[in-house]
Amino acid sequence: MRVFQIQDDWGLSHVRLGTRPDPRPGPGQVLLRMKAAAVNYRDLLVPDRGYGSHTGTLPLILLGDGVGEVIECGAGVARVKVGDRVSGEGHLIGMKSRMARAGHFHLDPETRGVGVNVPGAFAEYLRIPAFNAIHLPPEVDDEIGAILDPLGNAVHTALSFDLVGEDVLITGAGPIGIMAAAVCRHVGARHIVVTDINDYRLELCNQVTDAVTVNVSREELRDVMAKLHMQEGFDIGLEMSGAPRAFDQMVDHLIMGGKIALLGIPSGPTTVDWNRVIFKSLTIKGIYGREMFETWYKMIAMLQSGLDVRKVITHRMRAADYAQGFALMKQGSCGKVVLDWA
Ligand code: NAD
Repeated sequence: MRVFQIQDDWGLSHVRLGTRPDPRPGPGQVLLRMKAAAVNYRDLLVPDRGYGSHTGTLPLILLGDGVGEVIECGAGVARVKVGDRVSGEGHLIGMKSRMARAGHFHLDPETRGVGVNVPGAFAEYLRIPAFNAIHLPPEVDDEIGAILDPLGNAVHTALSFDLVGEDVLITGAGPIGIMAAAVCRHVGARHIVVTDINDYRLELCNQVTDAVTVNVSREELRDVMAKLHMQEGFDIGLEMSGAPRAFDQMVDHLIMGGKIALLGIPSGPTTVDWNRVIFKSLTIKGIYGREMFETWYKMIAMLQSGLDVRKVITHRMRAADYAQGFALMKQGSCGKVVLDWA
């Protein structure tokens, strides 16, 4: 099969179109013929070994997010059958830990990532555990199916707290922040304010949602709150930039007793003024990935009931043009980039 893999040495410049023997599914596994894959923030970090301590060994097939058709099932697979159109949960879990055995699969410390430690989705064929295959209904076409992983991050983060009638501050208008804004609107938040320092991203957010967008490099959040007649502060904060400055701003503009879900990954250790967190009695929840499989259930149900995030896909390109897609992502001058194997 044809694969795009980091070959010989680390670094994006070492990504090459190569070939590998076609994989066969083992017991409990399914083999997918990939239809579409999408570039994730993680895929920019993996080639430079920047994704924590998680990165696997070379050669490594990139990408974790995609859609495929099941073409073969291994022994013992009953829930999935040949011909099914599925997306794959990219976290492969063990079954030994306390959390996994309690059914909290997304909290399993033994998790390995597709396209991180095990062969990724940027290949003609992908082998995953049948357990990880998610059936896609007709309402979820291939390109939306290819971005369900980051949509799942947005859904898991946004649904961490009750949003009905609440005022929400989202810091970071990357694809995930924008999709989170759409989710907040879908489930009944009142004011949704999204900040960034990149006008392209804020304009994209305006196309996807009716959230109020703020470029914090030249506008004051307090002024925006005043225009919205907000008195005390945001009820909920969704941190989706990884920028320490954005977290500080969020703490400053939350109501007493407000709640923060932290998804954005800072590039290194950061300093937090915990006094402000404590004296505001804030609740902070760290978010990793998405819940298996409740987030998948909710997000597909929301897509079937009117949640529309299609405009967050700004670029569709042939798999062979991946380098252009990666470059756009690095510059921040795109939403989601979907790569097509056809
Ligand atoms: P992205 O990098 O495309 O978007 C981040 C946005 O934050 C950018 O548009 C950037 O301009 C903006 N930003 C930078 N400084 C800012 C500031 N001071 N205030 C407001 N915005 C600012 O990332 P994405 O793909 O949308 O993902 C969002 C974040 O979530 C990233 O940090 C990513 O690493 C992280 N992430 C975490 C998980 C997890 O499991 N915890 C999963 C996926 C992504």
